[in-house]
Amino acid sequence: MLFEPYVNEPFADYSDPDTLAAFKATLADVKTQLGKDYPLIIGGEAVTTGEWLSSFDPSHKERLVGRAAKGKAEHIERAFDAAYSAYESWSQVSMEKRARTLIRLVAIMRRRREELAAWEVFEAGKSYLEAIADVAEAIDFCEYYAREALPLAKPLPTYDYPGEENTTVYQPLGVGVVIPPWNFLLAILVGTTVGPVVVGNTVIVKPSPNTPIIAAKFMEMVAEAGFPPGVINLLTGDDADLGDALVDHPRTRFINFTGSVATGVRIHERAAKVQPGQAWLKRVFLEMGGKDALIIDETADMELAVNAAVVGGFGFQGQKCSAMSRAIVVDEVYDDFVARFKAATERLTVGPADENPDVAAVINERQFDKILGYIESGKSEARLVAGGEAADGDGWFIKPTIFADVPADATIAQEEIFGPVVAVMRARDFDHALELANSTAYALTGGVISKDRSRLERARREFQAGNLYFNRKITGALVGVQPFGGFNMSGSNTKAGGPDYLKNFMEMKTTTELF
Ligand code: NAD
Repeated sequence: MLFEPYVNEPFADYSDPDTLAAFKATLADVKTQLGKDYPLIIGGEAVTTGEWLSSFDPSHKERLVGRAAKGKAEHIERAFDAAYSAYESWSQVSMEKRARTLIRLVAIMRRRREELAAWEVFEAGKSYLEAIADVAEAIDFCEYYAREALPLAKPLPTYDYPGEENTTVYQPLGVGVVIPPWNFLLAILVGTTVGPVVVGNTVIVKPSPNTPIIAAKFMEMVAEAGFPPGVINLLTGDDADLGDALVDHPRTRFINFTGSVATGVRIHERAAKVQPGQAWLKRVFLEMGGKDALIIDETADMELAVNAAVVGGFGFQGQKCSAMSRAIVVDEVYDDFVARFKAATERLTVGPADENPDVAAVINERQFDKILGYIESGKSEARLVAGGEAADGDGWFIKPTIFADVPADATIAQEEIFGPVVAVMRARDFDHALELANSTAYALTGGVISKDRSRLERARREFQAGNLYFNRKITGALVGVQPFGGFNMSGSNTKAGGPDYLKNFMEMKTTTELF
């Protein structure tokens, strides 16, 4: 065995006073580093462009986390040149050597784990636990894909044929574009990059304009880990300059995207068009949004149900694709659930992320306005039970909000809000609950809180969700344990952290020799 057996990276226990004190010291240290400038990284070289993209702390609107260089059309061409040049040799490096490079990257990430988590608190408004969990997930992706890559170096088993030698092997695809979202700012960026890279592809990474600084930190570690120049290139900048241009580019071989359904569909359509000079059909991997439901029936452990709803609904301000944005509750226990959920939600603290409240700021002004717009439409569609407005402070704070009696066709029951807003829906019985759960275009995560075995088994078959959880919260999938990704408009089901993931970024070649 080349590597030790895979285990998930532990989080940290911030209820321990020493661990908490150490993290606060790291936060204070990182705070002194805010406001710096970061270049593009093309072919291993730092490139500045004269224009900057500013990243602000969502909890302190005026606090500059850093500035990232804005890439333009000319940098896209340079990045493709660098990635193609690196591909020639990187695609020929042994799988084992490439996997070892991921393990070296992990060693650096582990040394810097608290510091990286601190950057996440400032750049994205993560609580301490959410931040360290994201760093741990990034580590897991490297550890897991390094191990999963090794068997892919071997020829595939096929039947013999008399008089011939037949071999079938996997080979990488070429140069891909990686487009991650801001919400799991390190984990998804790292996972969607190192997956294709470990199997021999080279990439251009275009992070979300909301979180470019963590991407710059990642590139520092990439260089230290010894990835050859050009294997991973960083283009930060505006979507208007980089988004369509990278997707449309004839030299793009594949696109590894995670984000909203609107952007995903746009990429899907544009990437389908074969551009002049393009010599392949682009492969497109699109992991998109959710409108995830938790069913609570009359047999449910109510305390467990309420905890799952609070954590799943309001963890990281509801800004998770897996967030529980719908609680579907069977009539018999509906009023009891709503009362307890309201009480638990009103106990949540709201404040700046660096003070580690339960709920911090949403990512930016655009999302803040959009979420408040959904809250306004909720007020006319349903019954407001908790929150329903912005909270005081110097950041983009919104009170955790609950609507009850939400009709199945209400906007807030159908559209992804991506904020701290939960729709509670009344179901006549379990059958009706299941019908409501399956009544959106999304199918990402879902859950059932019930003690009834036959219902759980029915949900196992009939509840449409890529990640389905029974008697627990519906967020927090673990790499290698719960492969993550949905069905329908939630995406192309690449299942990040799953056993099929890496094969997406390879193609099979068969060679036949007649003796
Ligand atoms: P988004 O769609 O706004 O942006 C995602 C990425 O696409 C960003 O890097 C953005 O800069 C880029 N982009 C924007 N316009 C583009 C264009 N025209 N061409 C190419 N790229 C473009 O999404 P977001 O707000 O960053 O992330 C939140 C969304 O991501 C939510 O819908 C959430 O559910 C989803 N998400 C899904 C998963 C999953 O695994 N299914 C995981 C996390 C987040």
